[in-house]
Amino acid sequence: MSSPTTIIGLEVHVQLQTQSKIFCGCSSAYNPTHPNAQTCPVCLGLPGSLPVMNRRAFELGVKTAIALNCDIAPFTKWDRKQYYYPDLPKGYQISQFDLPFSDDGFLEIDAPGDSGEKRRIGIIRAHLEEDAGKNMHDESGRGTDSQVDLNRAGTPLLEIVSQPDLRSPAEAKAYLEELKLLLTYLEVSDCNMQEGSLRCDANVNLHMEAEDGQKIATPIVEVKNLNSFRNVELALEYEVKRQLEQWQKTGQTLGEVAKETRGFDAARGVTFAQRGKEEASDYRYFPDPDLVPVTVSSAFLDQVRESLCEFPADRRKRMAVAYQLSDYDVRVIVDQGRAFANYFEEVAKLCSDGKQASNWVTQDVLREMNERRLTIDEFPIRAAVLGNLLERITKKQVTIKSAREVFVELLSELHSRTPISAHHIDQIIAEKGLALVTDTGELERVIGEVIAKNPKAVADFQSGKQAAVGALIGQVMKSVKGADPQKVRELVVAKLRG
Ligand SMILES: [Zn+2]
Repeated sequence: MSSPTTIIGLEVHVQLQTQSKIFCGCSSAYNPTHPNAQTCPVCLGLPGSLPVMNRRAFELGVKTAIALNCDIAPFTKWDRKQYYYPDLPKGYQISQFDLPFSDDGFLEIDAPGDSGEKRRIGIIRAHLEEDAGKNMHDESGRGTDSQVDLNRAGTPLLEIVSQPDLRSPAEAKAYLEELKLLLTYLEVSDCNMQEGSLRCDANVNLHMEAEDGQKIATPIVEVKNLNSFRNVELALEYEVKRQLEQWQKTGQTLGEVAKETRGFDAARGVTFAQRGKEEASDYRYFPDPDLVPVTVSSAFLDQVRESLCEFPADRRKRMAVAYQLSDYDVRVIVDQGRAFANYFEEVAKLCSDGKQASNWVTQDVLREMNERRLTIDEFPIRAAVLGNLLERITKKQVTIKSAREVFVELLSELHSRTPISAHHIDQIIAEKGLALVTDTGELERVIGEVIAKNPKAVADFQSGKQAAVGALIGQVMKSVKGADPQKVRELVVAKLRG
């Protein structure tokens, strides 16, 4: 038997960043402390109330679908998906069934690993729907009551369904990371997984070929409600093993048993069987008579297209060329988000040295941000100031080492010196004597002294021990702080060779 190919498709639910819910004026803000405070007759499903579509939610959906290379339907409608559950007061969810507003797109991702290979993952459709509320079960063990919070009921969701094009759990994770980055660049969602703004269901099965050439596929399993990318990867890794063992035991293949719905127990790292999955026919979908269908004009589409930003993938390509950076460097910068990439570009332009700017931003700035738990917008050294500091390296006014000292000092003096300006850089350079010594006469005088005081090192060097020169350079640098080490080395070696 051939080794199995893993077939994965993902359904991602993204909460759109609107002020109000999708069919009423209630706030869609996350509010777990005041249950049911953000409700009205529409999202409570009271008789006689009528929903009205939130135009902004539709616009954010279209924006995302365009970025995912989808076709936008000129005509789309709303359908009722009927099922009973206590967190769904109307007894149906307003969704889109046979005429979603967009379909047939793709997202390009980098294959996991260092191959540099690009993979195009198909998007079957993206449609809009409303979220349900949340059941709160008493987990204290004392009581037996369950309560329901409908603050989330009616929050706008965008469901993005991929083709089963993903070939490994790692690739599924890479797709989710790229999708999340795109959504945050577009500012359509905050993608906060803790607050449930991004949720994922994964469909997975295995394709194999028997010795007689017969093609075998294992039954499809849907793993529901995965709340972190790591859990998506772990649940899929577990399923790949489990399905192979299951097939070896039972010989059951696709079509012989119904599609199975499973949950994931993160603590034990295993998936477990859940209730049977309904088929579309069980939901008795029909067009919602309370909502008018939506016609999408080309003027509206033009307006949405104009509001689009540069996408992460395009930005990586452009920045790699513009600043002569490696694929690794641009990935680190772009993947930190739009504000971080903007910060980098401003620094790079000011100091005219992309590589230097990238080193500082991805190492020094990122490290300090993480240690201080700051976002780039909160980071006290603004791009204009860092750009000014790095420009002094380009112009050979300070060494890289001295610039690092200034950087550390700027941050340590924070309490008294906010907002930090280029003037503070001048001050620190003056106070610490960090200005690069360009006066060769002064350097030569110090070098002469150091050589006179260190006959042993000089003798070692002259007997062929090249390393001995390091000790001499160190002593010179100690006396003349702002000296350029490259220059000092040249002068010391020249002097020793006489
Ligand atoms: Zn409401």
